[in-house]
Amino acid sequence: MSTPQEPYQICVRCVMDTSDPWIRFNRLGVCNHCTEFLATRVAVTAYQHRRPQQAESGLNALFEEVRSKRSPGSDHDVVVGVSGGVDSSSVAMLAQQAGLRVLAVHMDNGWDTPIAIQNIYKLIGLPGISYHAEVLHWNGFKAIQRAFIEAGVPDIELPTDIAIQAALHRVAQQRRISIILSGGNIANEGILPPAWLYNARDSRYAHAVLQKAGTPPKLYQSINFGFRRELRCRLLHRIQTLYPLNRFRYDKEAARHNLKQAIGWQSYGGKHCESTFTRFTQLVYLPKRHQVDYRRGYLSADICIGKTTRSEALQQLETPPWAKIQVDQDLAFVARKLDYTPAQLEAAMHSPPSWYSDFPNGERLLGVAYNTYRLLTGRPKASNF
Ligand SMILES: [Zn+2]
Repeated sequence: MSTPQEPYQICVRCVMDTSDPWIRFNRLGVCNHCTEFLATRVAVTAYQHRRPQQAESGLNALFEEVRSKRSPGSDHDVVVGVSGGVDSSSVAMLAQQAGLRVLAVHMDNGWDTPIAIQNIYKLIGLPGISYHAEVLHWNGFKAIQRAFIEAGVPDIELPTDIAIQAALHRVAQQRRISIILSGGNIANEGILPPAWLYNARDSRYAHAVLQKAGTPPKLYQSINFGFRRELRCRLLHRIQTLYPLNRFRYDKEAARHNLKQAIGWQSYGGKHCESTFTRFTQLVYLPKRHQVDYRRGYLSADICIGKTTRSEALQQLETPPWAKIQVDQDLAFVARKLDYTPAQLEAAMHSPPSWYSDFPNGERLLGVAYNTYRLLTGRPKASNF
């Protein structure tokens, strides 16, 4: 990676800017993020089709594929990770409506909001959906989250991301289920530069962060899901992850409405705010410490798929990300849970930021490893592993 860019620049097509220190612009002022997003991510989803009808048939094809891969020895067809949020709840309900036997798995990291928990209980009341919860050991997980805050990196959600992957694959393997359905989708996850959230599968990096804070790296073992483990799951246990929400023109508002009608699901406001920690991270901590505003990534993706215009996006960004939440209340809650005083957490938030490239990591090696794997399995090469 090169050194961070100065002075300020913003893309002329999307709204990504030099808050990603390693953003690149072409001579017309268009950035690498929207260029790659349109060329590689949109191209493998329903958004590649111009006609909505063509786009809708993809979901049925995906469920047919799942039915054809049913393992005779299992009581379930798919594992679906559920958070109580709209994306994962929609996937579970769509699979259930398609007649699949769903095992809903929730990874409890201690940060669920009461609404998220209620939503999960409503969802698992549907016939055909069974439930399994994995609860993380709180003291160990708290030490990991504190280590990421103390290291100054923006990746404080990385331990949760990897713990979810570890839990879903562990359950799929134990129950002999070969398909994991993910709520991940390009329509809502936006553009996410590695500088803002680095890859959770790089164990060398995670260990370096823990070491800096003096946290025993062995704590990470219980939530780890690195390259070797992933390869074993994919090749030996034949576990595959599919993305139903990319197979049709997924509309979050319509999905919320459907969930409300079907199970009395409740909205919690904001993207990924089913967790208090996520809300605090995206709307307060990262904007203040790293000048990173996740809305910029979401809005840039929306511009690329035609859901909003660049001028509307710029207008939205004029309001600070924390404008609609009670910052002091969230700060006090997060501080108390992590055994900080609010003043200590506030001080961390105003300390100089660091980035993943400041720590030993396996980016180069894993990039080669994953691209070799993609080559062997006939998938396109990617710029990030
Ligand atoms: Zn751009």
